[in-house]
Amino acid sequence: MVAQRTLKSITRAVGVGIHSGRKVELVLRPAAPNTGIVFRRVDLAQPVDIKVDPQSVCDTRMATTISPGGDPGAPKVQTIEHLLSACAGLGLDNLYVDINADEVPILDGSAASFVFLLQSAGIELQPAPKRFLKVKKTVELRRGEGRSLMWARLEPHHGYTLSFEIEFDNPAVAATGQRYVFDMGSGQYKKEIARARTFGMTADIELMRSRGLTLGGNMDNAIVVDDYRVLNSDGLRYDDEFVKHKILDAIGDMQVAGHPLLAAYTSFKGGHALNNLLLRELLKDESAYEIVTFERDEEAPRGFAELAPAW
Ligand SMILES: [Zn+2]
Repeated sequence: MVAQRTLKSITRAVGVGIHSGRKVELVLRPAAPNTGIVFRRVDLAQPVDIKVDPQSVCDTRMATTISPGGDPGAPKVQTIEHLLSACAGLGLDNLYVDINADEVPILDGSAASFVFLLQSAGIELQPAPKRFLKVKKTVELRRGEGRSLMWARLEPHHGYTLSFEIEFDNPAVAATGQRYVFDMGSGQYKKEIARARTFGMTADIELMRSRGLTLGGNMDNAIVVDDYRVLNSDGLRYDDEFVKHKILDAIGDMQVAGHPLLAAYTSFKGGHALNNLLLRELLKDESAYEIVTFERDEEAPRGFAELAPAW
């Protein structure tokens, strides 16, 4: 049987929120089968639980933000996508995330620190079949036209692949590979995707700062690019780090479904907003998907029954 997974032990992380700039503490705890991933705001007088599912997403402008039932007036947790990406990369199904602020810490701007934390706590197989969200019909969304065209698509596939293309005018980004295809069954998430950092252009960063955003962002947790070059003194971690970060984000945004996908995901210049709309579009049509389990490991797509290799 391909089994559900949780943590073996409790682990903690401390960091700053990239938007608020404030210190945040996370406690990651094991959870029972079929719990899913649940954030708990422990800084409030009454702790508030926010279960990760597509309807809990309440804002996708800068990052993916959730609240109970997607209520914009309710307590929130923002920037969940890098932690969720790490969970997806390690095949974690069930987890409690206690958090004492409204934003997940940015750490190094990638998913690598979360992968390290989760693996240090250990991954445990649980006595319940892992539930996959199998896409049965192609769903596609397009927005804008001409240079502002973006689209994203989910197609049926026995496995889970993600293909992303970006198209930036910026010469420093354009000089790197702007298209990448990743197979989640390859076991290469940690090596090829997890270390890709978030990025920003200096002009955008100045604008966002003036609005009180990205106050915690700096070159320790983001790639910063001016009109011509990467400003970080140690350069890029991958030749194509920008597009790999978009895949890292997409993996996190799709994990909001509550189950790993069995699908081929493709995006051209999409982002958090389009990713969430795509998931909602899929789930609107009950004949477009089904929840499946694998009683025998051999029936699962290649690489899905094994635990991800350790560092
Ligand atoms: Zn990101």
